[in-house]
Order: sequence, then C-alpha cells, then structure tokens
Amino acid sequence: MGRIYLSPPDMSDVERDLLLGAFDGNWVAPVGPDLDAFEREFASRVGVEHAVGLSSGTAGLHLALLVSDVRAGDVVVVPSFTFAATANAVCYIGAEPWFVDSDPATWNADPDLIAEAIATARGEGRRVGAVVTVDLYGQCADHEPVRAVCDAEGIPLIEDAAEAVGATWGGAAAGSFGDIGVFSFNGNKAMTTGGGGMAVSADPTVIDRMRHLSTQAREPALHYEHIEIGFNYRLSNVLAAIGRGQVRRLPEMLARRSEIRARYEATLGALPGVSFNPLDPRGRPNHWLTVIVLADDARVTPGHMIDALEAVDAEARPAWKPMHRQPVFATARMFGGDVADAAFARGVCLPSGSSMTDDELNRVIDAASAVLS
Ligand SMILES: *Cc1c(COP(=O)(O)O)cnc(C)c1O
Repeated sequence: MGRIYLSPPDMSDVERDLLLGAFDGNWVAPVGPDLDAFEREFASRVGVEHAVGLSSGTAGLHLALLVSDVRAGDVVVVPSFTFAATANAVCYIGAEPWFVDSDPATWNADPDLIAEAIATARGEGRRVGAVVTVDLYGQCADHEPVRAVCDAEGIPLIEDAAEAVGATWGGAAAGSFGDIGVFSFNGNKAMTTGGGGMAVSADPTVIDRMRHLSTQAREPALHYEHIEIGFNYRLSNVLAAIGRGQVRRLPEMLARRSEIRARYEATLGALPGVSFNPLDPRGRPNHWLTVIVLADDARVTPGHMIDALEAVDAEARPAWKPMHRQPVFATARMFGGDVADAAFARGVCLPSGSSMTDDELNRVIDAASAVLS
C-alpha cells in the first residue's frame, strides 16, 4: 500500500518514448525539435496562437511583468489567495504587490476590489504596472469585469494560469484571458515536465520578446552581442519531450480529475457541514485540486482531517495561506480579506492526482468519512 500524494506526476509510455527519443537523438540541450513542437502543440491545445517554453511558471510571470513594462516602484494588483510565486515575481521587478480578497462564488480575485485597489493607488499618485489574475485550483477567473477595468484604466492584464491548464470559461481557454497567460509544469500540477512553464499570447511580438529575454537576451551575432539584461529561463528540450506526451494525454488526465471531484462530492458531500471549493457553472475547471471545506461549527477541523488522512498514508494540506497573512508580506496593502481567511481556516486540499486508482480513492474517502461521521 503506497503513499497517496496530493497531485503526483502521471506518466506513461507515451512520455517515456518521447523522452528517450530526445535522449537518443542527443537533443539534450535547451533548444531542439521537441521544444518547438511542444510550443506548437501546447498552443494549439490551449487555443492561443503563440507560446514560449520556459524553465518555470515563476520565470514566465517574471518575464510577463517585464515585457508589460512593469517598473520598480509600481503597484501590481494580485489576489491574496494564491501561491507565493504570483507575488514573488512582482517583487523580482522591485514592484509592490497590493493584495485583494476573493469573490466567495469562485475564490478568484474580486473585480470590485481590483478596481478599488487601482483607484486607491492612483489616488496616492502611484503608477499601477499591471493586474495579475489567478485561475485558482484550476477554475478560470471571471475575466470579463477585470478586463473592463484594465482596458478602461490602460493597465496590462496578466493571467496566472499556472494551476488551470485545460480549463475553460464561457468556452474560452485558461491562459487566453490575459494579455499574457502563464502556465506551470511543476511536478504537482495537472500536467508536468518535472519543472517548466509556458507563456502564451495572441501577440507574437510579446512572445518573441519573452523568448529573447529567456535566452540571456543574445542578439543574433556569432560573438553574442548584448544590448540589455537577459535571463536563463528557457525550457530544456528533454523536458519539452515529456511535455509533448502530457499534452497528448491531457484530456484523459483531466477527465480522471473530474471523476475524482465527482466521487468526493457524491460521498463526502453528502455528510453534514461539508462543502467544496466553489465552482461557477460558466466555467469548466480542470479540477487540479479538490478542496473540501468544513463548516465553521463543524466538530472536525482541517487539522483533524489532515491527521486522519495521514494515518492511512494519504497526503492532504490546508488551502493556500493568503499572502496578506504571510510574514514576508506583513506590511503589504490588502483590500478585504474575510473570504481568503475563511477558505484558509476551513479548507483542506484532498488527493486529486489523475494517476490515483479507485482503491486509493476509496482509501481516502473511507478515512475522511470516518472522521466526519
Ligand atoms: C505553481 C504555481 C506557480 C509557479 O509555478 P512554478 O512552475 O512552480 O514556478 C505560480 N502561480 C501559481 C498560482 C501556482 O500554483
């Protein structure tokens, strides 16, 4: 009986064959035919025209902010309820993340609070460099009102779709709502290359510029001419080969995650005091993680649930700790906060990986049911 992880890599012979193909062809390099093919195949799967493979989602966010002309001293509006990488990238630029609370209906950034943060920053004479949205736990944010605010104010919109590969909203794909969309292929995401990321955009000049910056901003000269500071952020061809296999298997992997969510809802959802991360019917999430939410007055706390699952060797974790509660952002500006605080206080991420077997899923459900009843 092996340990059940939250969201482990889901690999098959498809990825193995592609990986060995890259190896045997000696394409063990930061560029190569698999990287080109991965970018093409990923872009076509996501429904965005242009894509650049990068070493991580965080690198993608950093470059996206840079090419959007975010500058040191700018304010960048970011949801508080997210993984630290979203806010860290803002700090790499020397800009200042201003956090906003979530909409209780989706757990994604509240558009009214985004507008309020922008107005407040402007009122204090600050330049607002960008708004970054996050498609949390694999559900696209409702970008229509955010887009309206950004367009009205002339502010770039960057979509952190790190958790949302394959998700859609109103029929349009995660990653397609921002001026730039950023994905992560970290080992715990819905598809993975071990480590890696992808930035997508409808604008080819933006993607070309990110590709240039990701390869040390080398000008096309034999002696390597440099007229600006670059980064070593390109995805390796070997990892891209794995990614090509994952893109092919994405529909089946996401179907399994959706099944897992449905099983949790049908079993644990029937117990009193239990709900889940809220889903809006306009979206089709990728169900990266299913988060169980235990009612305020419930006897069972997230700590009890995590311990009960640990006792059957299953990994569970609290929902993201909001950024405005993180020591490193203790003095950061925050608009609202009750929704993210409540989700953190009552939410537990359940094992949701697409390689989880029915037996493993039953082990989790049995242990969770036992502690809840
Ligand atoms: C995972 C994640 C990232 C970072 O991606 P890496 O590839 O690990 O750098 C950024 N934002 C969010 C919301 C994430 O969940």
